[in-house]
Amino acid sequence: MSDPQLSNDGWRSCPPGTLAELASGLRKVEQRKQRRSIVVGVASLLMMVTAGAWYSNQNGPLPDHYPYGGISCMEVKDSLPLMMSGTANAELVAKIQTHLAECPMCAELARKLQEQSHAGRQNTSPRGKRRDSILLASDLN
Ligand SMILES: [Zn+2]
Repeated sequence: MSDPQLSNDGWRSCPPGTLAELASGLRKVEQRKQRRSIVVGVASLLMMVTAGAWYSNQNGPLPDHYPYGGISCMEVKDSLPLMMSGTANAELVAKIQTHLAECPMCAELARKLQEQSHAGRQNTSPRGKRRDSILLASDLN
């Protein structure tokens, strides 16, 4: 009796299902590769999003936790245009001025706003004035 699995040239024929297993094995490897590249893609995307969020935080809205002068940076930011146009009430102006004296960020913002409004009116206004002179006394009187 000859072995039915042994063919004439000595090669053993595959048991049924071997090729299918091999194929599905290869497919799994492919899928794993794909999944890995997706993971890498997602990870780099996340990194970009995180970096973007970090970047926009550096340049984004002013934080709301500098209660100098009893007024927050957000309020100062909102009120600065009012103050510049002279429509803010005296109490608010006093608060803003106290805040500006203590908060370099808002002082910088005020300086920029003042430069903008001055640039619109007169180009001869001195630039780069110090923080004490941003209090806009000339605008208020
Ligand atoms: Zn501030």
